[in-house]
Amino acid sequence: MSRWKGSKKLRLRLTNRADEVASLNSDREARLKSFDDETGEQAENLATNRVERERLIAALPKAMGADYNRISKRIRDGIAVAEARNGACMACFMALRPQAMAQVRRGEEIVTCDNCNRILYYAPSGSAPANPGSVQPKVAHT
Ligand SMILES: [Zn+2]
Repeated sequence: MSRWKGSKKLRLRLTNRADEVASLNSDREARLKSFDDETGEQAENLATNRVERERLIAALPKAMGADYNRISKRIRDGIAVAEARNGACMACFMALRPQAMAQVRRGEEIVTCDNCNRILYYAPSGSAPANPGSVQPKVAHT
């Protein structure tokens, strides 16, 4: 009777669904592939930046490099520097003593924030830091 017809219809529906599944799968493959590519790129960037970081730390006077490492290990986000702007530390937003702010501006010595102990740096307005990504206090945890 109509049993055979029904199963044929069902098979047809399944075939259609199979196409849909195949296209969804290939879509997923493409997304995974692009995600992989992106991840690989990020990992490369990270490796490059790590090398650069080591190189820069090695270029610092020994005591300063040690200071930097000590501070960076102790701070939760691992960022040992903070911008001093408008008389405040941009990492913890504590107001800085006017004298400390003046010292940071002069840039002749290492000045740390009284509150969060990060090394303060001064970026004259209009000139962004050389590598903003690495010095912004708010960085996603990885
Ligand atoms: Zn601070």
